[in-house]
Amino acid sequence: AADYESLIDHPVEIADFIERQFTAGGVLHRMVFTNPLPETDFDRIASDVARICETEIDLFDGAPFDEYLFLVALDESGFGGLEHRDSTALIFPRGHLPSVTAVGVSKEYQRFLSLCAHEYFHNWNVKRIRPAAFAGLPLDRPAHTRLLWVFEGFTSYLDDWLVRHAGLIDETQYLAALEETINRAMRGKGWSRQTLEESSFYAWTRFYQQDANAVNAIVSYYTRGAIVALMLDLMLRERGSSLLDVMRRLWEAHGAEPLPEGERIETLIEAAMGESMRGFFDRALRSTDTLDVGGLLARFGVSMVPRAEQGGPDAGVRVDLRDDRAARVTLVFEDRPGATAGLAVDDRVIAIDGFAVSGTNWADRIARHRAGDSLHLHIFRQGRLLETTLRLAPECLNQHRLEHAPGDSAIEARRAQWLALAEQAPVER
Ligand SMILES: [Zn+2]
Repeated sequence: AADYESLIDHPVEIADFIERQFTAGGVLHRMVFTNPLPETDFDRIASDVARICETEIDLFDGAPFDEYLFLVALDESGFGGLEHRDSTALIFPRGHLPSVTAVGVSKEYQRFLSLCAHEYFHNWNVKRIRPAAFAGLPLDRPAHTRLLWVFEGFTSYLDDWLVRHAGLIDETQYLAALEETINRAMRGKGWSRQTLEESSFYAWTRFYQQDANAVNAIVSYYTRGAIVALMLDLMLRERGSSLLDVMRRLWEAHGAEPLPEGERIETLIEAAMGESMRGFFDRALRSTDTLDVGGLLARFGVSMVPRAEQGGPDAGVRVDLRDDRAARVTLVFEDRPGATAGLAVDDRVIAIDGFAVSGTNWADRIARHRAGDSLHLHIFRQGRLLETTLRLAPECLNQHRLEHAPGDSAIEARRAQWLALAEQAPVER
């Protein structure tokens, strides 16, 4: 390695593996899989990922490395990825990769493709376009930046979009993935407690160290960042530009020179937009106001219909659905019935109105009531029996369903342009 920074940026794994190779942008790519199930369709996976790589390389007019390695560690249920300058280390459930007889792109396989697109996009956005706060790698202490909404937010929005752009999924599959991203950001009320810039700046102490109350207390720079990226992309497209134009400008201006904290990125986006975005940035990055993503999506022929996470009356808690002895509370949502009743995470609800309940039948039992009903609960909290009253509320419509809502020709043209496929150069095999 050239230096210590390069050395620690190259992950090493020693194991039996299966390898596939492809060339994209004239550069050799290798995919290495460990612990796969039999009959996994490695050829198909390599060919699909090659299209993603080719698409991203085209967007930036060339690959910034001489060769690239996907290290895919397959396990039972893990999920994650870490970006490096010439490689990425992924963890993914082995059962979610397609078998040789599989047809179409399953929701699970779509997640794998998005994960690959995400880490690969980091080759530009964070590994080479770097926040100045990361320059020089202060390894003995956390590095703080307010810009993770750019590095993770933009990347989280564009990962699904790139899988669509590469032609691997259709519009319906894309909208389902976008819906999931938007819904994750709005599940709790953390977005009303922390701004996006704060979420980024306090990543080390808040986001990386989440406690049971995180859903009520913090917002994710991944998901809210992705929503801001989506809104910017749509606004830019209405003005003849796009978020990818911004990425290319960023690459040109800051591919070598680190991106400073402060307004530099906002100025760069405003230049692509052709107008001041001060009001939007103040609201999206430095306030906890709601963002009108639905209004923007409507102009692109997509309706955003409010819905509940689950139908029926709302108890305002989540329980461990696999526990067949008690309904163990895993999340308590602020300002909803469970919180009002004083329920806490790890409480084990053992009876509703005198009848035993567990995680496996909790949802059925709640569904047998109506909003406004008062339920008498018996709970074990750290081994002590408590009783409380849970008053069910109407269903909580904090989630949304995204649907194609055909509009006039201008709307249809905008949507078609937003979700268009790349003019794909054939992948060399
Ligand atoms: Zn990332």
